[in-house]
Amino acid sequence: MAALINGVGGLTCYSKLPKTTLPPSRSSCFRVRMTVYADDKQTSYTLQKSQEAFNAAMNLMPGGVNSPVRAFKSVGGKPIFMDSVKGSHMWDIDGNEYIDYVGSWGPAIIGHADDEVLAALAETMKKGTSFGAPCLLENVLAEMVISAVPSIEMVRFVNSGTEACMGVLRLARAFTGREKIIKFEGCYHGHADPFLVKAGSGVVTLGLPDSPGVPKATTSGTLTAPYNDISAVESLFNSNKGEIAALILEPVVGNSGFITPKPDFLEAIRRLTKENGSLLIFDEVMTGFRLSYGGAQEYFGIMPDLTTLGKIIGGGLPVGAYGGKREIMEMVAPAGPMYQAGTLSGNPLAMTAGIQTLKRLKAPGTYEYLDRITGDLVQGLLNAGKKTGHAICGDYIRGMFGFFFTEGPIHNFDDAKKSDAAKFARFYQGMLQEGVYFAPSQFEAGFTSLAHSPEDIKKTIAAAEKVLSEI
Ligand code: PMP
Repeated sequence: MAALINGVGGLTCYSKLPKTTLPPSRSSCFRVRMTVYADDKQTSYTLQKSQEAFNAAMNLMPGGVNSPVRAFKSVGGKPIFMDSVKGSHMWDIDGNEYIDYVGSWGPAIIGHADDEVLAALAETMKKGTSFGAPCLLENVLAEMVISAVPSIEMVRFVNSGTEACMGVLRLARAFTGREKIIKFEGCYHGHADPFLVKAGSGVVTLGLPDSPGVPKATTSGTLTAPYNDISAVESLFNSNKGEIAALILEPVVGNSGFITPKPDFLEAIRRLTKENGSLLIFDEVMTGFRLSYGGAQEYFGIMPDLTTLGKIIGGGLPVGAYGGKREIMEMVAPAGPMYQAGTLSGNPLAMTAGIQTLKRLKAPGTYEYLDRITGDLVQGLLNAGKKTGHAICGDYIRGMFGFFFTEGPIHNFDDAKKSDAAKFARFYQGMLQEGVYFAPSQFEAGFTSLAHSPEDIKKTIAAAEKVLSEI
C-alpha cells in the first residue's frame, strides 16, 4: 500500500520548477460522444465496430496491427481503432471519447492535430509532398535542432527512430574503428538487429527476449548491463579494453515503463566512456524536446558525443535524426565515407510539422506547464492507490511519466518486472471504460501534452479512484 512519489530513482529534485499556468491549447476542446447501446447490459461502452475492424485486420496484417505495441496482448481484449484526434483527446470508430496519454507514442506534445501545425502543413502541401532534392525547410529545422540540443553541432534527418539509431551506431563504429557496443537491459533503440538484445517495449510485452531472424553475428558485439548499475558497466569496459565503440542509453528510460537515472549515474557513464575512448550516445528519441527544450542532456547537464532524436521533431509525421560533434558528423556521406541515405529523408511535410511543433515548445512556460499537470496526474494516481489500498509507485519529469503496481523503488528492468501485470491489465480495461487511454502495456512510459487541461487530469484521477476501488 505504499504510494511513493518520486520514489523511482530516489530522485526528489527534478520537479521543483516554478509553477506557472498556461491555458490549454486552443485545440483541446472536450466533446463527449460516449456511445450508449440499450442492449448492452454491463455498461454503455461498446467497441463493436473496433472489434469487427480488428477481426478483418487480423487477416490483412500480422497480428492485425502495423506495430506490435498497438496490440493489446498484455492487457487483454482487442486494440481500439481510432477515428480522430484533437488536443488531448481521441475518438474511436464506435464514437467513444478518450483522454489520451499515449500521444501517438510521444510526438503529440503540443496536442494532437494542432490547428497551427495543420495550417502550416496545408500551406506546404500546396507546393508538393516530396522533392527528393534539398529544400529550405530542412535548413530551418536543422538550425532549430542544433540551437536547442546542447551537444548537436550537425544533424542528419532520417525517417524514424529506428533509422536514427541504426545510423548512429554505424557512425560510432566508423569513427572509433571499434565494433562492440554497450546497451542497457530494457532500453529500446528501435528494431535494428544489433539492438534486439534485452530490448524493452514491445519485445518485452510480447515476451520475446530476442527475435528469430537476427543473425548471431549482428548481436555478438552487443554487451548489456542492468540500467543504473555503474559497476556492471565498469566491468564490461575492463573486460573489453579498447574494443567498445559506444555506449548507448535512454537517459531516462521509457521502454521498461518510466525509470529515472540514479543521481550521478549519467556522470559516471560520461566519465567511463571518456576514459575508455568510447563514444557516449544518448537515445533521445523519447526524451528529446520532452524533458526540456534541449532534451535530457540539457535537463541533466551531461554532454553526450552523439544523440538520436525522433517523435517530437516530426510533429506527428515520420522523422528521426542523429547528430553530434562536427568532427564525428563529418564522417557521414557525402561529407565522409560512412554511408547512410533515405528517399524521403528531410521531406517538406515532416520538416514543417517539426518546425511548428518546436516553435510552440519554445514559448515561455511550456515545460513548467507540463511539469505541473504531469505532477498533479502522478500524485493523483498515487493518492488514489493509497485510498483504495493498492501498492503503486510512480514518477515523472515534465511531460513523461509512469507508474507501477508495486511498492518500488524501480531502478532497472528487473525491478519493473515486479509490477503486478495482471492488476495493470484490470486497471487498464477499467480506465478505457472510463474514457482514459493509457499505453496498453506496463512497460511503456506515459506522455502528457500542452493540450492536457487541469480538467483532463481531474477526470483521470477520479476515474482511477473509481477503477481502483473496483479491481
Ligand atoms: N529509441 C527510443 C528510445 C524509442 O522509444 C523508440 C520508439 N519508441 C525508438 C528508438 C524507435 O523509434 P521508431 O519507432 O520511430 O522507429
